[in-house]
Amino acid sequence: MDPAKRASVGALSEVRDDVRSETHLEEQVKDWLRYGEDLGLAPYYRDRAPLHAIESATARVESHNVATASTSSAAVPAAMAAAAPGRVPAAPINVAASPSASQKPATTSTILPATAPSLFEAIERIAGDTLPRIREDIGDCTRCKLHKGRTKIVFGTGNPNADLMFVGEGPGRDEDLSGEPFVGRAGRLLTDMIKAMGLQREDVYIANVVKCRPPENRLPEKDEITTCSPFLMRQIDAIKPKVICTLGSCSAQTLLQTAQGISKLRGEWFDFRGTKLMPTYHPAYLLRNPAAKPEVWKDLQKVMAVLGLQPKKR
Ligand code: SF4
Repeated sequence: MDPAKRASVGALSEVRDDVRSETHLEEQVKDWLRYGEDLGLAPYYRDRAPLHAIESATARVESHNVATASTSSAAVPAAMAAAAPGRVPAAPINVAASPSASQKPATTSTILPATAPSLFEAIERIAGDTLPRIREDIGDCTRCKLHKGRTKIVFGTGNPNADLMFVGEGPGRDEDLSGEPFVGRAGRLLTDMIKAMGLQREDVYIANVVKCRPPENRLPEKDEITTCSPFLMRQIDAIKPKVICTLGSCSAQTLLQTAQGISKLRGEWFDFRGTKLMPTYHPAYLLRNPAAKPEVWKDLQKVMAVLGLQPKKR
Protein backbone atom coordinates (compact mmCIF):
# COMPACT_ATOMS: atom_id res chain seq x y z
CA MET A 1 0.00 0.00 0.00
CA ASP A 2 1.37 3.37 -0.93
CA PRO A 3 2.07 5.78 1.94
CA ALA A 4 -0.78 8.20 1.05
CA LYS A 5 -3.35 5.38 1.06
CA ARG A 6 -1.98 4.01 4.32
CA ALA A 7 -2.34 7.45 5.94
CA SER A 8 -5.96 7.85 4.85
CA VAL A 9 -6.85 4.33 6.14
CA GLY A 10 -5.23 5.25 9.50
CA ALA A 11 -7.20 8.49 9.72
CA LEU A 12 -10.44 6.63 8.89
CA SER A 13 -9.77 4.12 11.62
CA GLU A 14 -9.17 6.95 14.17
CA VAL A 15 -12.49 8.54 13.19
CA ARG A 16 -14.24 5.18 13.65
CA ASP A 17 -12.65 4.84 17.12
CA ASP A 18 -13.81 8.37 18.04
CA VAL A 19 -17.36 7.62 16.88
CA ARG A 20 -17.35 4.35 18.82
CA SER A 21 -16.12 6.14 21.94
CA GLU A 22 -18.72 8.94 21.57
CA THR A 23 -21.46 6.38 21.11
CA HIS A 24 -20.23 4.57 24.18
CA LEU A 25 -20.22 7.84 26.15
CA GLU A 26 -23.73 8.68 24.95
CA GLU A 27 -24.94 5.26 26.06
CA GLN A 28 -23.34 5.77 29.44
CA VAL A 29 -25.07 9.16 29.87
CA LYS A 30 -28.41 7.65 28.86
CA ASP A 31 -27.89 4.86 31.40
CA TRP A 32 -27.18 7.42 34.15
CA LEU A 33 -30.25 9.46 33.22
CA ARG A 34 -32.42 6.34 33.32
CA TYR A 35 -30.92 5.47 36.70
CA GLY A 36 -31.66 9.01 37.97
CA GLU A 37 -35.22 8.79 36.63
CA ASP A 38 -35.70 5.47 38.46
CA LEU A 39 -34.56 7.15 41.69
CA GLY A 40 -36.98 10.04 41.19
CA LEU A 41 -34.21 12.62 40.73
CA ALA A 42 -35.61 14.18 37.55
CA PRO A 43 -37.38 17.07 39.34
CA TYR A 44 -34.13 17.99 41.07
CA TYR A 45 -32.31 18.33 37.76
CA ARG A 46 -35.25 20.13 36.08
CA ASP A 47 -35.98 22.60 38.92
CA ARG A 48 -32.53 23.35 40.22
CA ALA A 49 -31.64 27.04 40.40
CA PRO A 50 -29.39 28.45 37.72
CA LEU A 51 -25.75 28.58 38.74
CA HIS A 52 -25.64 32.39 38.92
CA ALA A 53 -28.56 32.34 41.39
CA ILE A 54 -26.71 29.88 43.62
CA GLU A 55 -23.56 32.00 43.46
CA SER A 56 -25.49 35.12 44.38
CA ALA A 57 -27.18 33.36 47.31
CA THR A 58 -23.81 32.12 48.54
CA ALA A 59 -22.42 35.64 48.32
CA ARG A 60 -25.36 36.90 50.42
CA VAL A 61 -24.75 34.30 53.10
CA GLU A 62 -21.02 35.11 53.17
CA SER A 63 -21.71 38.86 53.44
CA HIS A 64 -24.12 38.19 56.27
CA ASN A 65 -21.57 36.05 58.13
CA VAL A 66 -18.84 38.67 57.78
CA ALA A 67 -21.19 41.42 58.93
CA THR A 68 -22.32 39.38 61.95
CA ALA A 69 -18.74 38.53 62.94
CA SER A 70 -17.75 42.19 62.71
CA THR A 71 -20.65 43.31 64.85
CA SER A 72 -19.72 40.89 67.66
CA SER A 73 -16.06 41.95 67.59
CA ALA A 74 -17.12 45.56 67.88
CA ALA A 75 -19.17 44.61 70.97
CA VAL A 76 -16.00 43.92 72.97
CA PRO A 77 -15.94 46.57 75.72
CA ALA A 78 -13.53 49.42 75.03
CA ALA A 79 -11.83 48.92 78.39
CA MET A 80 -10.75 45.46 77.29
CA ALA A 81 -9.07 46.87 74.22
CA ALA A 82 -6.56 48.81 76.34
CA ALA A 83 -3.19 48.13 74.79
CA ALA A 84 -0.49 46.35 76.69
CA PRO A 85 2.86 48.14 76.60
CA GLY A 86 4.76 47.63 73.41
CA ARG A 87 1.68 46.50 71.52
CA VAL A 88 -0.04 48.36 68.75
CA PRO A 89 -3.67 48.90 69.74
CA ALA A 90 -6.13 46.99 67.60
CA ALA A 91 -7.43 49.25 64.88
CA PRO A 92 -11.14 50.12 64.96
CA ILE A 93 -13.10 47.56 63.07
CA ASN A 94 -14.96 48.72 60.01
CA VAL A 95 -18.42 47.37 60.72
CA ALA A 96 -20.42 46.47 57.65
CA ALA A 97 -24.10 47.34 57.49
CA SER A 98 -26.23 44.49 58.84
CA PRO A 99 -28.31 42.74 56.25
CA SER A 100 -31.89 43.80 56.16
CA ALA A 101 -34.81 41.46 56.63
CA SER A 102 -34.91 41.05 52.87
CA GLN A 103 -31.36 39.64 53.02
CA LYS A 104 -29.96 42.64 51.23
CA PRO A 105 -26.25 42.01 50.76
CA ALA A 106 -23.92 44.01 53.01
CA THR A 107 -22.57 46.94 51.07
CA THR A 108 -19.30 47.48 52.95
CA SER A 109 -16.68 44.80 53.08
CA THR A 110 -15.15 44.14 56.49
CA ILE A 111 -11.46 43.48 56.96
CA LEU A 112 -10.18 42.36 60.33
CA PRO A 113 -7.30 44.49 61.56
CA ALA A 114 -3.85 43.16 60.82
CA THR A 115 -3.02 43.43 64.51
CA ALA A 116 -5.48 41.08 66.16
CA PRO A 117 -6.29 41.55 69.84
CA SER A 118 -3.96 39.76 72.20
CA LEU A 119 -5.12 36.75 74.15
CA PHE A 120 -6.11 38.93 77.08
CA GLU A 121 -7.53 41.82 75.13
CA ALA A 122 -9.87 39.34 73.48
CA ILE A 123 -11.10 37.81 76.73
CA GLU A 124 -14.38 39.31 77.75
CA ARG A 125 -15.02 40.18 81.35
CA ILE A 126 -17.76 38.06 82.84
CA ALA A 127 -20.20 40.28 84.69
CA GLY A 128 -20.52 39.29 88.34
CA ASP A 129 -17.76 36.70 88.12
CA THR A 130 -16.60 35.34 91.47
CA LEU A 131 -13.68 33.27 92.67
CA PRO A 132 -15.90 30.32 93.71
CA ARG A 133 -17.50 30.33 90.27
CA ILE A 134 -14.09 30.34 88.57
CA ARG A 135 -12.96 27.46 90.78
CA GLU A 136 -16.12 25.60 89.90
CA ASP A 137 -15.48 26.16 86.20
CA ILE A 138 -11.96 24.78 86.51
CA GLY A 139 -13.40 21.64 88.09
CA ASP A 140 -11.20 18.56 87.90
CA CYS A 141 -9.46 20.13 84.94
CA THR A 142 -7.84 18.09 82.19
CA ARG A 143 -7.67 20.93 79.65
CA CYS A 144 -3.89 20.77 79.29
CA LYS A 145 -1.21 18.13 79.74
CA LEU A 146 -0.16 19.44 83.17
CA HIS A 147 -3.11 17.63 84.73
CA LYS A 148 -1.32 14.31 84.25
CA GLY A 149 1.33 14.95 86.90
CA ARG A 150 -0.52 17.06 89.43
CA THR A 151 -1.60 16.08 92.91
CA LYS A 152 -3.78 19.12 93.62
CA ILE A 153 -4.94 22.08 91.58
CA VAL A 154 -3.45 25.23 93.09
CA PHE A 155 -6.15 27.77 92.47
CA GLY A 156 -4.98 30.75 94.52
CA THR A 157 -5.45 32.07 98.00
CA GLY A 158 -5.98 35.25 99.97
CA ASN A 159 -8.30 38.21 100.26
CA PRO A 160 -10.89 38.18 97.44
CA ASN A 161 -11.03 42.00 97.71
CA ALA A 162 -7.28 42.53 97.91
CA ASP A 163 -5.72 45.77 96.71
CA LEU A 164 -2.53 43.87 95.94
CA MET A 165 -2.27 40.66 93.96
CA PHE A 166 0.90 38.65 93.45
CA VAL A 167 1.15 36.42 90.39
CA GLY A 168 3.76 33.68 90.09
CA GLU A 169 4.35 31.17 87.32
CA GLY A 170 3.14 27.78 88.57
CA PRO A 171 3.05 25.49 91.60
CA GLY A 172 6.15 23.69 92.80
CA ARG A 173 6.33 20.40 94.71
CA ASP A 174 5.15 21.78 98.07
CA GLU A 175 2.32 23.69 96.44
CA ASP A 176 1.26 20.65 94.41
CA LEU A 177 1.01 18.59 97.60
CA SER A 178 -0.76 21.22 99.70
CA GLY A 179 -2.93 22.92 97.06
CA GLU A 180 -1.70 26.33 98.31
CA PRO A 181 0.48 28.73 96.30
CA PHE A 182 3.89 29.82 97.61
CA VAL A 183 4.23 27.58 100.66
CA GLY A 184 7.78 26.25 100.16
CA ARG A 185 11.02 28.13 100.83
CA ALA A 186 10.25 30.68 98.15
CA GLY A 187 6.76 31.05 99.61
CA ARG A 188 8.16 31.78 103.06
CA LEU A 189 10.36 34.48 101.56
CA LEU A 190 7.32 35.96 99.80
CA THR A 191 5.49 36.00 103.14
CA ASP A 192 8.43 37.91 104.64
CA MET A 193 8.34 40.37 101.76
CA ILE A 194 4.61 40.93 102.32
CA LYS A 195 5.18 41.50 106.03
CA ALA A 196 7.97 43.94 105.28
CA MET A 197 5.44 45.93 103.31
CA GLY A 198 3.31 46.26 106.46
CA LEU A 199 0.76 43.62 105.33
CA GLN A 200 -0.21 40.10 106.27
CA ARG A 201 -0.40 37.28 103.75
CA GLU A 202 -4.17 37.20 104.22
CA ASP A 203 -4.40 40.83 103.08
CA VAL A 204 -3.19 40.07 99.55
CA TYR A 205 -4.21 37.55 96.91
CA ILE A 206 -1.67 35.10 95.48
CA ALA A 207 -2.14 33.09 92.29
CA ASN A 208 -0.15 31.57 89.45
CA VAL A 209 -0.31 31.62 85.67
CA VAL A 210 -0.92 27.84 85.57
CA LYS A 211 -2.75 25.94 88.28
CA CYS A 212 -0.99 22.58 88.01
CA ARG A 213 2.65 21.77 88.68
CA PRO A 214 4.89 21.57 85.62
CA PRO A 215 7.06 18.42 85.77
CA GLU A 216 10.56 18.85 87.22
CA ASN A 217 9.60 22.43 88.13
CA ARG A 218 10.16 23.52 84.54
CA LEU A 219 8.58 26.72 83.26
CA PRO A 220 5.04 26.34 81.92
CA GLU A 221 4.96 25.86 78.16
CA LYS A 222 3.14 28.13 75.76
CA ASP A 223 0.17 25.83 75.15
CA GLU A 224 -0.26 25.31 78.90
CA ILE A 225 -0.16 29.06 79.53
CA THR A 226 -2.64 29.72 76.74
CA THR A 227 -5.02 27.10 78.11
CA CYS A 228 -4.82 27.98 81.78
CA SER A 229 -4.20 31.73 81.93
CA PRO A 230 -7.80 32.74 81.09
CA PHE A 231 -8.64 31.51 84.62
CA LEU A 232 -6.01 33.88 86.00
CA MET A 233 -7.56 36.66 83.94
CA ARG A 234 -10.93 35.94 85.46
CA GLN A 235 -9.38 35.92 88.94
CA ILE A 236 -7.85 39.35 88.30
CA ASP A 237 -11.16 40.65 86.99
CA ALA A 238 -13.06 39.25 89.97
CA ILE A 239 -10.60 40.61 92.58
CA LYS A 240 -9.99 43.96 90.85
CA PRO A 241 -6.72 44.69 92.68
CA LYS A 242 -5.25 48.18 92.55
CA VAL A 243 -1.81 46.73 91.87
CA ILE A 244 -0.60 43.45 90.36
CA CYS A 245 2.94 42.44 91.26
CA THR A 246 4.26 39.74 88.94
CA LEU A 247 6.98 37.47 90.27
CA GLY A 248 9.56 36.28 87.74
CA SER A 249 9.64 36.35 83.99
CA CYS A 250 6.81 33.96 83.16
CA SER A 251 3.98 35.92 84.77
CA ALA A 252 5.27 39.30 83.55
CA GLN A 253 5.74 38.04 80.01
CA THR A 254 2.35 36.35 80.05
CA LEU A 255 0.36 39.31 81.29
CA LEU A 256 2.28 41.88 79.27
CA GLN A 257 2.45 39.68 76.17
CA THR A 258 6.11 40.40 75.71
CA ALA A 259 9.28 38.37 75.25
CA GLN A 260 11.40 40.86 77.22
CA GLY A 261 13.40 39.46 80.11
CA ILE A 262 12.50 40.19 83.72
CA SER A 263 15.71 42.19 84.29
CA LYS A 264 14.48 44.67 81.64
CA LEU A 265 10.90 44.73 82.90
CA ARG A 266 11.34 44.86 86.67
CA GLY A 267 10.98 48.10 88.54
CA GLU A 268 8.86 49.75 85.84
CA TRP A 269 5.15 50.41 85.99
CA PHE A 270 2.98 48.92 83.29
CA ASP A 271 -0.70 49.27 82.62
CA PHE A 272 -2.58 46.02 82.49
CA ARG A 273 -6.15 46.53 81.35
CA GLY A 274 -6.45 49.56 83.61
CA THR A 275 -4.54 48.08 86.57
CA LYS A 276 -1.03 49.08 87.57
CA LEU A 277 1.41 46.22 87.14
CA MET A 278 4.87 46.01 88.67
CA PRO A 279 7.16 43.14 87.60
CA THR A 280 9.82 42.01 90.02
CA TYR A 281 12.04 39.00 90.56
CA HIS A 282 10.65 35.67 91.75
CA PRO A 283 11.43 34.81 95.40
CA ALA A 284 13.01 31.55 94.18
CA TYR A 285 15.51 33.69 92.24
CA LEU A 286 16.23 35.67 95.40
CA LEU A 287 17.02 32.44 97.23
CA ARG A 288 19.68 31.72 94.63
CA ASN A 289 20.78 35.37 94.31
CA PRO A 290 20.29 37.17 97.65
CA ALA A 291 22.23 40.12 96.22
CA ALA A 292 19.14 40.98 94.17
CA LYS A 293 17.00 41.56 97.29
CA PRO A 294 17.62 45.34 97.44
CA GLU A 295 16.32 45.65 93.87
CA VAL A 296 13.14 43.79 94.78
CA TRP A 297 12.71 45.95 97.84
CA LYS A 298 12.93 49.04 95.65
CA ASP A 299 10.17 47.57 93.45
CA LEU A 300 8.03 46.78 96.47
CA GLN A 301 8.51 50.30 97.82
CA LYS A 302 7.06 51.66 94.59
CA VAL A 303 4.05 49.41 95.12
CA MET A 304 3.76 50.59 98.72
CA ALA A 305 3.83 54.22 97.63
CA VAL A 306 0.89 53.63 95.28
CA LEU A 307 -1.07 51.73 97.93
CA GLY A 308 -0.18 54.18 100.73
CA LEU A 309 1.53 51.48 102.80
CA GLN A 310 4.12 52.08 105.50
CA PRO A 311 6.95 49.58 105.96
CA LYS A 312 6.65 47.29 108.95
CA LYS A 313 8.20 48.81 112.07
CA ARG A 314 11.01 46.67 113.49
S1 SF4 B 1 -2.77 23.81 84.34
FE1 SF4 B 1 -4.76 24.80 84.22
S2 SF4 B 1 -5.57 24.20 82.20
FE2 SF4 B 1 -3.90 22.79 82.70
S3 SF4 B 1 -4.92 21.06 83.68
FE3 SF4 B 1 -4.28 22.45 85.32
S4 SF4 B 1 -6.04 23.76 85.71
FE4 SF4 B 1 -6.36 22.75 83.73
